Amino acid sequence: MARGDPLHKSAGIIGMAVGAVKFYIHPKLTVSRAAPAACGLCGARLHDAADLCPGCELDLPRIENACARCAIPLPVAAESCARCTRRAPAFDRCRVPYLYRFPVDAMIRRYKFHQALELGGVLGGRLAAFLIREPEARPRRIDALVPVPLHVTRLRERGYNQAAELAGMVSARLGTPVRHDLCARTRPTESQARLPAAARAKNMRGAFTASPAAAGLRLAIVDDVVTSGETVNSLAKALRRAGADYLEVWALARAGL
Ligand SMILES: [Zn+2]
Ligand SMILES: [Zn+2]
Repeated sequence: MARGDPLHKSAGIIGMAVGAVKFYIHPKLTVSRAAPAACGLCGARLHDAADLCPGCELDLPRIENACARCAIPLPVAAESCARCTRRAPAFDRCRVPYLYRFPVDAMIRRYKFHQALELGGVLGGRLAAFLIREPEARPRRIDALVPVPLHVTRLRERGYNQAAELAGMVSARLGTPVRHDLCARTRPTESQARLPAAARAKNMRGAFTASPAAAGLRLAIVDDVVTSGETVNSLAKALRRAGADYLEVWALARAGL
């Protein structure tokens, strides 16, 4: 990204604004819930327990109508898009509140790559609220949440798994447990974002293994961003092979359009 482009500048603004706001207590941080808080995006003073001001809240790029199967935005909501009809994914439903566009993309990148852990609270809260509020998105019975695991070497580099953090926050709101024992990333993979579309499925093949303990369970796979869908699809295939009964994917944002 070129210095001085709007996204670069805005990401900096987000960082500054969020630096002043401490509303989510990450286990690694000792922060206080000091009030009054500021909007996590524009820095405006807030007078209630919200983490974004009403204007910024309205500006978030919501997905209005989507394919119920893969969450790709469509002019009219549908049970299955043309792509899913041709080749159905290994999961049954995908629920995603936002497009991977500004400012959600910048928030996720800061959260993921720049240790802006406070943003996790804003993002996790939005995902949980979407799942609870939107009638279309309300989960049917789900036994457990399964965060997309990072390979152990990537986990060591980054120090935390953003998908696991998100799953923890959603779990706290919905009361559905998180299961870390149901799958593992068995080999490191190239970052999907750097690969052309055709190489993504191949890159993810056999990347995950699932435990027989998944048998008969209704699970929601949790990730931050769904891009081509190959990562969550690869994990869904492994869980399906282990006998999972029903699989949803819950993510914050949908990219790769
Ligand atoms: Zn704001
Ligand atoms: Zn679809």
